Amino acid sequence: MGKPTGFMEYSREKAKEQPPLERIKNWKEYASRLTDEALQIQGARCMDCGTPFCHMGIEIRGTAAGCPINNVIPEWNDLVYKGKWKEALERLLLTNNFPEFTGRVCPAPCEGSCTLAITDPAVAIKSIERTIIDKGFENGWIQPRMPKLRTGKKIAVIGSGPAGLAAADQLNQSGHSVTIYERADRAGGLLMYGIPNMKLEKDVVERRIQLLMEEGIEFVLNTEVGKDITAEQLKAEYDAIILCTGATKQRALYMKGSDSEGVHLAMDYLTSTSKSLLDSNFEDDKYINTKGKDVIVIGGGDTGADCVATAIRQNCKSIVQFGKHPQLPVNRADDNLWPTDPHIYKLDYAYAEADEKYGKDPREYCIQTKKIVADKKGHVKELHTIQMNKVINDEGYAYFEEVPGTERVWPAQHVFVAIGFEGVEHALPEQFGVKITNNKIASVGKKYATNVNGVFTAGDARKGQSLIVWAIKEGRGVAETVDAYLTEYASL
Ligand SMILES: Cc1cc2nc3c(=O)[nH]c(=O)nc-3n(C[C@H](O)[C@H](O)[C@H](O)COP(=O)(O)OP(=O)(O)OC[C@H]3O[C@@H](n4cnc5c(N)ncnc54)[C@H](O)[C@@H]3O)c2cc1C
Ligand code: SF4
Repeated sequence: MGKPTGFMEYSREKAKEQPPLERIKNWKEYASRLTDEALQIQGARCMDCGTPFCHMGIEIRGTAAGCPINNVIPEWNDLVYKGKWKEALERLLLTNNFPEFTGRVCPAPCEGSCTLAITDPAVAIKSIERTIIDKGFENGWIQPRMPKLRTGKKIAVIGSGPAGLAAADQLNQSGHSVTIYERADRAGGLLMYGIPNMKLEKDVVERRIQLLMEEGIEFVLNTEVGKDITAEQLKAEYDAIILCTGATKQRALYMKGSDSEGVHLAMDYLTSTSKSLLDSNFEDDKYINTKGKDVIVIGGGDTGADCVATAIRQNCKSIVQFGKHPQLPVNRADDNLWPTDPHIYKLDYAYAEADEKYGKDPREYCIQTKKIVADKKGHVKELHTIQMNKVINDEGYAYFEEVPGTERVWPAQHVFVAIGFEGVEHALPEQFGVKITNNKIASVGKKYATNVNGVFTAGDARKGQSLIVWAIKEGRGVAETVDAYLTEYASL
């Protein structure tokens, strides 16, 4: 522990952010780093707890508590306080394959579980993590690590999201030959075509892909396994196959008018925007443009927030986001006590931007869309809604009832449906003969193994829609299982 009194002397400092009215004029990352000196002070706030809850990484009643990949946070906090950035990087890379992603966009369950957060704002763990890895790249400390020997075993990973990348990285480093198949034209999964550029710039993703390629991993893009190459072909060619295909099946909205023109699934909007930005800086016009339009996002989650921030950057006329649930409390509820991740009201980046640009937080709570109305040409023109009341019955189950007299009509020329994901797409696992339970690929016996010998699974495909950090954990976990399956002396 660097400075025993640091937590009493210093306050938390947040990562720097471009002011909302500035950042909405561009698509660059809105958050940037604190200075080294400021981060050393943040490192000094760490109490080096006897039981460091920040790195325990467990789920309590379905909520994360601590870092899922068990980052050794107190150690690198101390090293950063002492200015030993390279040593801090070595500690960080022991547990996290891709800190440049989590250091930018992880919601940081570690901070929610930090002991200091019981009484004060948590240690700025995420800011410290981001700077350690950025300095690693800037100073040339991150270089391709070439495996010393090759085992002769061949592994196919299907899907290049963080789970597939982490599995491939681990297995490649232990000497196996790994090929990643990806149906998109760029690797990265939702890191590339999901999370918008202003949260995670894509050259950060491409830098990592390039490094993995230099280390020997082969990427086969524009190839949909199950269509362009069959399960049988892969089984014949590889010693093990890992399905990391994500939980990409979006939940659609089935109601009167939901087939109107101008009503889109959120991922179609976000993906086309990212692709057009990367391909041509929007010159190709192959994206959904909300400029000058009234936009409504249906769905109160993070994907919806990313749609809000995207529409604001396109200069939409107005923006509203409908959520089913009531506003979260400002302080932790009784069933959400420390050290679980706090479910409290936050002004996320998108909402801060809307607030400054349009003078209003765009979120509408406890609201239900009743129907979508189109104009004579079949293009959406308005949404009809009613307010809902959330009621908890005697058995503790929640249900919603309509509040009479609260009907309302909202103008909208673009509607984005962000009501969640149903889970894994079924066609590919079915072709492999792999069992699916509750829209997730079922792992049986050894964690990450499926019912088919030699076929494994990890990430959102197995766990359901989650977070990058959980996908990395899954990738590392499946790699361990596959390594043990392929070799007598498992090295992972
Ligand atoms: C809009 C959005 C924003 C998000 N923001 C954040 C955030 O800020 N922070 C955070 O921690 N998490 C965020 N998440 C969640 C996070 O991105 C996911 O949990 C994570 O990417 C899951 O990783 P994965 O590798 O399991 O799957 P994915 O990232 O979904 O990757 C799966 C890949 O498999 C490919 N694939 C599927 N089928 C085939 C096939 N048959 N053949 C070849 N390839 C195939 C897909 O094209 C895709 O590239 C966000 C999610 C969304 C949707
Ligand atoms: S819980 Fe917070 S104060 Fe304690 S070791 Fe972790 S980061 Fe430091």
